[in-house]
Amino acid sequence: MGRKAQYKQTTFEIISIGNELLIGKVVNTNASWLAKRITEIGGFIRRIVDVRDDLSEISSAVREALKRGTKWIITSGGLGPTFDDMTLNGVAKAIKKPLRLNRQAYQMLVEKYKEMFERGILKSLDITPERRKMAELPAGAVPLRNRVGTAPGVLIKFGRQRIACLPGVPAELMDIFENELLPTIQKSIKRVHMIERTLIARDVVESALAPVIKEVMSRHPLVYIKSHPKGRESGVSIIELHLTAVAPSPEKIEEDMGQAVQELKEKIAALGGTTEQ
Ligand code: ATP
Ligand code: MG
Repeated sequence: MGRKAQYKQTTFEIISIGNELLIGKVVNTNASWLAKRITEIGGFIRRIVDVRDDLSEISSAVREALKRGTKWIITSGGLGPTFDDMTLNGVAKAIKKPLRLNRQAYQMLVEKYKEMFERGILKSLDITPERRKMAELPAGAVPLRNRVGTAPGVLIKFGRQRIACLPGVPAELMDIFENELLPTIQKSIKRVHMIERTLIARDVVESALAPVIKEVMSRHPLVYIKSHPKGRESGVSIIELHLTAVAPSPEKIEEDMGQAVQELKEKIAALGGTTEQ
């Protein structure tokens, strides 16, 4: 039984772009960080996808996410000046918009380069084609200020859907997400209350727990329970049970969660296991 977005939680998809992710060179911490933050604020992540630095892979991933009706599509990586940074090209292709020099983004870059030049980091102030590329956004897009690095993030409206493109460097992605994107996401997101609990079960195997979890979940439809086997300690199996509940009002979920935890404890005890919270 999979958890569906409940109470029409706002849906999100994350598309991480970069060959380094698909050859096992870089671990996709951007996606897990975004997933955690978005879940914390009440969003529902439908999918996380990794694609190569390839125009048709990027555009088809974005197109598919749009077709699924996902409200927010967030991409990471591929905003830089090099030839393999082609995220905006791929997004533009997916939404059938041309890339255009964006004045605001251009201004942001000019300011960045001026600052770097004055600090002696840059030898020339020239806006080369590679630098200019970072200010070429799909028509109608809005740049998001990057305080940490150079390439601005990008926010695009596509009907009722939104596409946000963030850089691959984690510190830049986090900064733009927190300072530039989050206020807009918060405005668009449906308010939900979410709580979570963790229960450690010892001395019961997962196959014995499975019907218990199923039964408790069917009695408390707001509560989703996921079991994570943690291995064995002195021959005793340890399973972490992670419970989440999402609802429009906090009272309702507190009550349901309390009951679900209590029932789990009783049923695990009846199986000869122990629990701790
Ligand atoms: P830049 O302007 O620095 O080129 P960019 O948006 O083009 O930024 P990428 O070139 O895709 O970003 O990635 C830059 C670096 O960020 C990568 O070399 C990698 O170390 C790191 N990185 C990229 N994607 C991820 C990811 N999903 N998770 C963690 N780190 C990542
Ligand atoms: Mg790059």
